[in-house]
Amino acid sequence: MSDLRDVVVVGGGHNGLAAATYLALAGKTVTVLERLDHVGGAAVSTATFEGVDARLSRYSYLVSLLPARIIRDLGLDITLARRRYSSYTPVPGSSSGLLVDNADAAATARALGGDAAAWTTFYEGTARLARTLFPTVTEPLLTRTEARAAVGDDALWSRLIDDPIGTSIAATFADDLVRGVVLTDALIGTFAPNVDESLAANRCFAYHVIGGGTGDWDVPVGGMGAVTGELARAARIAGAEILTGATVTAITPDGEVTYRIDGSEHTLGAAWVLANVAPYELEKLLGNRPDDRPEGAQVKLNLLVSRLPRLRDANVDPAAAFGGTFHINETWSQLDTAFAAASTGAVPSPLPCEIYCHSLTDPSILSPELRASGAQTLTVFGLHTPDRLVTEANNDAMRATLRAAAIDSLNSVLAEPIEDLLLVDASGQPTLECKTTLDLQHALNLPGGNIFHGPLAWPFAEDDAPLATPAERWGVATAHPRILLCGAGAQRGGGVSAIGGHNAAMAVLEAS
Ligand SMILES: Cc1cc2nc3c(=O)[nH]c(=O)nc-3n(C[C@H](O)[C@H](O)[C@H](O)COP(=O)(O)OP(=O)(O)OC[C@H]3O[C@@H](n4cnc5c(N)ncnc54)[C@H](O)[C@@H]3O)c2cc1C
Repeated sequence: MSDLRDVVVVGGGHNGLAAATYLALAGKTVTVLERLDHVGGAAVSTATFEGVDARLSRYSYLVSLLPARIIRDLGLDITLARRRYSSYTPVPGSSSGLLVDNADAAATARALGGDAAAWTTFYEGTARLARTLFPTVTEPLLTRTEARAAVGDDALWSRLIDDPIGTSIAATFADDLVRGVVLTDALIGTFAPNVDESLAANRCFAYHVIGGGTGDWDVPVGGMGAVTGELARAARIAGAEILTGATVTAITPDGEVTYRIDGSEHTLGAAWVLANVAPYELEKLLGNRPDDRPEGAQVKLNLLVSRLPRLRDANVDPAAAFGGTFHINETWSQLDTAFAAASTGAVPSPLPCEIYCHSLTDPSILSPELRASGAQTLTVFGLHTPDRLVTEANNDAMRATLRAAAIDSLNSVLAEPIEDLLLVDASGQPTLECKTTLDLQHALNLPGGNIFHGPLAWPFAEDDAPLATPAERWGVATAHPRILLCGAGAQRGGGVSAIGGHNAAMAVLEAS
């Protein structure tokens, strides 16, 4: 006979921990089963380089979607630091660029030139969408009609929701580079053309501009591991049991969960099973053979450098350029060409990338010695590298190819090669790591390396969506009433937000 719990959470990512905390606080018996030897999933900090005292946010790095309400509810001691600079984008092949400085509207307007007024109007529109939609993500789903009425601006709704976001961007902005800067928010982790009739790019864009009701992306002080650390602390204090090294191997629709720990197999019975794993992985655990495997489309690099590199653009301080999101080779036409190349099986050249420096805003992730030496961490997120390019057989070679492509792309805007600034680890290896989509699948069980567990869904329900049960209303339903999604694959779950976990917990409490 199996042990009985009110709730078993399959996966100890930050969402699983959030769900466990809410439910344990409400008096439920909760066990979290995590296959790795630590919790946090894609929201962790690691001492990535052997013998080097720098704790990098290894996968996810910025926070926008974590509601203040969840931080308050769970008593989390989390500090999110706002960045002064929104972005810097060099004009490819030149020594000039576009700096978007939140603290200097006049300078930003001068830099945007003829697109300045359109920029202001466009982002006033996204801000209105954010103010209306973000407070709803921790409530039962609005329908499309209700959400549209709440936004109260049909023209805005058409521009951002109904029409391909690329069409709206092209109609709004004249400049190739400005168009690219705006479009990148629609392409993070999403392999889509500039004008995407499927609207997957719109859904990606929406989650990138509504976070916190402002769309700001903040730096988690202490690194992403600090967010997970607080959630794990809260879960334990609330009374949740967290087992690491516990790989779930099967789930039955009536709530039996089989897992392996230390080489032996165990079974737990639960009134509710919350799946923090991707929906595709859940199907496999239920014994099904899903055929719609999600696809990720990014490559991630982590670097530790002795100092910030000098830029080709001598008019911009590297601390400003790297202080926000540094877009490289991400003009509209470069994104278009990159998508076309990747669609034919090629690695884009140049590779569109975004770079950001955590340690400029939050040096606490570095040892005092590294800090004093001027060392900095850099995170590179390369776009349009779909999982279809990577196989088990070519993964090592493809990792080397993608790493070289990202470095070449970065070097194209620097006045000195970035390789010259890398430190070395205890084994004499340069402090540079690269993660392909397949690496993410291996490390985190992310199907196809998809950073959102699968295609993103709108933050509202379609008008004809079934909304009869609490699970349906909270956007966490599966085909089985006792099994709920509680991760990035839930309807509003993508990113570091804890929303999937919160909403699964609310569905359980409403139904119990
Ligand atoms: C490279 C990268 C960069 C990103 N950047 C950002 C960013 O800057 N900002 C942002 O908001 N989001 C970002 N994301 C997305 C974000 O990190 C994820 O959407 C989020 O962390 C998902 O959290 P989760 O708790 O739902 O799932 P996960 O973090 O995926 O956790 C799921 C957990 O389940 C465990 N698990 C899997 N299978 C089993 C099994 N069979 N048995 C037991 N346990 C299992 C896994 O080991 C994992 O710990 C990024 C993601 C990646 C990969």
